[in-house]
Amino acid sequence: MNIGILALQGAFAEHGAMLDRLGTDHFEIRQTRDLERPFDALILPGGESTVMGKLLHDLGLFQPLLQRIKNGMPVFGTCAGLILLAREVEGGTPCFGVMDICVKRNAYGRQLGSFYTEAEFCGLGSVPMPFIRAPYIRSVGPKARALAETDGHIAAAQQDKMLVTAFHPELTDNPAIHRYFLECVKKAG
Ligand code: GLN
Repeated sequence: MNIGILALQGAFAEHGAMLDRLGTDHFEIRQTRDLERPFDALILPGGESTVMGKLLHDLGLFQPLLQRIKNGMPVFGTCAGLILLAREVEGGTPCFGVMDICVKRNAYGRQLGSFYTEAEFCGLGSVPMPFIRAPYIRSVGPKARALAETDGHIAAAQQDKMLVTAFHPELTDNPAIHRYFLECVKKAG
């Protein structure tokens, strides 16, 4: 199994470190040439969704990645990555727009949006959740389901092979959510 990690900006290296820990091959996607390598799943990291969205278009990566996602390639989006996948974005513009969720950007206020908590994640028990200028998921449509909540707001969701978290599991030492994603990738393959 090989995982492509979008590496235009943001916290991509930390996802790589987590996959190293789980013994899973990965590589960074920075330009269209990188897409010539075969890969089984995609990670969209945290960072700044507006910047990543613009770079995706400028570098010609938007269409080929959208096509892969639409063809059923499993994808895991954290924070800004979640925003890139959402069908509806409050305070921003949809990018891939493939996931049946409505998200609110910078939902906790620009400065106060960073905090740490622990909460139940469906089937995985309590997991650490660092939020950094985080969005929350205002609602999930009928195709998606919520996997975690904090303070009454949805913090993680899944729709088929698309998994998203509003927080950053790659910045913790708990690999449970990455392992969960890799299991989904295995099942998909
Ligand atoms: N606030 C950022 C955005 O809107 C997301 C922050 C993050 O990924 N940590 O893209």
